[in-house]
Amino acid sequence: MNPLAFSSSASLDELRQAIIACGRLCYERRLMTANDGNISVRVDGERVLITASGVSKGRMEAQDLILLDMEGNVLQAAAGRKPSSETPMHLEAYRQRPDIRAVIHAHPIFATTLTVAGHDLPLDVLPEVMLTLGEVPTTAYATPASHEDAEVIRDLIRTHNALLLRQHGSLTVGIHLEEALIHLERVEHVAQVYYQALLLGHVERIPPAALQKLTARMVRYSG
Ligand SMILES: [Zn+2]
Repeated sequence: MNPLAFSSSASLDELRQAIIACGRLCYERRLMTANDGNISVRVDGERVLITASGVSKGRMEAQDLILLDMEGNVLQAAAGRKPSSETPMHLEAYRQRPDIRAVIHAHPIFATTLTVAGHDLPLDVLPEVMLTLGEVPTTAYATPASHEDAEVIRDLIRTHNALLLRQHGSLTVGIHLEEALIHLERVEHVAQVYYQALLLGHVERIPPAALQKLTARMVRYSG
């Protein structure tokens, strides 16, 4: 069974293993480099499990995960481990989205490059963006690891499953980590294709009428 696609009855230990597996995939796919990025899951109505600050997400163990309440108070942590500095952004996403149980903040290279170069993620270059994600807006600039990160995502995350954080990275959410990771991989794939097309000097756009047809067929991933 894929640990990332955890069920609503998953145990705390199963959720820990899901985060560890997700971190390894994100690191191996270069969606998170060094000790960047952070991953969390909603355990229940009152608790969140989140990665510790300062650890590589590619080499985590159970002791690198911290149990918090919804205000960010530590309920359970190994000695010397502190919660991710981006905890306020994760908690804000859960507050705004009662329907989600997983949040991934990553530093994907091509999506981040677009925000540094002043480009938005285009809706009209690959059909799968419109079919699965819809608009992926770029937030205002915020100082990483501050409460500003929570503020800039507050309104946008209510109606979007993926955001680009200006000059910083990405935020994707899902009903489980499988869904949040698929959103992240898709965002990075589109960003890389768009970046390469810009380098080749021409970007073929999907005509507006065809784009409308895609909007009508937009489906939620249900794997
Ligand atoms: Zn970050």
